[in-house]
Amino acid sequence: SLSLSSLVAYDAAAAGHDGILLDPTGDLIIKPCTAAEVSFYEASVSAHPEFAELMPTFMGTLSLGVAETPVSKATLPADQTSALPLPNAVLINPIPDDRNPSLEFIKGKKIDSETSIVLENIASPFTKPCILDVKLGARLWDDAVKPEKRAKLDLLAAETTSKSLGFRIAGMRVWRAHEKDFKVYDKLYGRQLTEENVLEGFKAFLGRERGPTNMPVSASLDDAELAALARGLADRVTEIRNVYEKEEIRAYSASLLFVYEGDPVAFRKTLDAATLYRNTPDGVSPDEQSDLNSGEDEEESDEDGAPPRVFDIRLIDFAHATWRPGQGPDENVLHGMRNLEKTLRELVSLLEGAD
Ligand code: ADP
Ligand code: MN
Repeated sequence: SLSLSSLVAYDAAAAGHDGILLDPTGDLIIKPCTAAEVSFYEASVSAHPEFAELMPTFMGTLSLGVAETPVSKATLPADQTSALPLPNAVLINPIPDDRNPSLEFIKGKKIDSETSIVLENIASPFTKPCILDVKLGARLWDDAVKPEKRAKLDLLAAETTSKSLGFRIAGMRVWRAHEKDFKVYDKLYGRQLTEENVLEGFKAFLGRERGPTNMPVSASLDDAELAALARGLADRVTEIRNVYEKEEIRAYSASLLFVYEGDPVAFRKTLDAATLYRNTPDGVSPDEQSDLNSGEDEEESDEDGAPPRVFDIRLIDFAHATWRPGQGPDENVLHGMRNLEKTLRELVSLLEGAD
């Protein structure tokens, strides 16, 4: 159950505002949000199931108050948490969730009206999650924005790949197995990339940033693994785009959040398990066949019986997103997705050539 008195600060966000919290298990993200974002999640979950699968699972909303007692850092890896200030939290609007029956929402006294959204933490299945936030669209503002903000965002788009390519790297964290740390690329890193060199950003995401001697530094995975990973990422963006093309949405400043397993041992273990899974009739993993009631070894497959994955990609950040029935596809976002696919295909060729 969600223990609201022991939320911890999340400091592994790739981009965006501060103030994200995790539940003690690390499986749930609690993010301050606008009413528009809640509405968009609710509408998506209730009326657009295929699209909703592209988003993190929506668990409900929370109202956070001020901490009365200090809270421990729970059992998360030190690199994913930071100390205080931590709130008490009051869950005000849970949605019923058949998929997660163990999640109990605790009612209490509402302290202030700041609303947070409770989402599945996309990074939690991974040992060393490498995270990339790609902000989508050349136009980054919704109709409600004030003229000054609109001008500011247009300038930011014009000065970055947002305008030329319809996407930009908003931030990333990359695990370096040799250094045993995450290299953090802040929002300024992605802003200085151009149409000509944006591929460098994606190489860096896979740990193939060029160092001063032009040698790749910090790659945790070998070239064949990186090539397979890049192909998986590119194919998944294509699948996401195919779903998005059928929907009538206007999403401004939304992102595609990429996560992959940066720990080479966990990466290989997961790939082996996925290969076994695919080669077994009915998609039942050998472990499950030999002991179907065993609840152990969750890494091998999740509750839905889906194969284990070495990466995940979801659409996030819907503070300026609305459903627009009758208005046709969201070309502003689709343009960015198509260019992103091209860039990822270039990455695949490059890595496959490196073999
Ligand atoms: P903001 O309005 O602050 O930009 P976002 O929804 O874009 O809010 O979230 C900011 C960052 O938090 C993202 O770049 C990502 O690293 C992290 N994040 C947000 N939602 C999730 C999630 N469901 N799972 C994992 N990480 C998330
Ligand atoms: Mn964001």
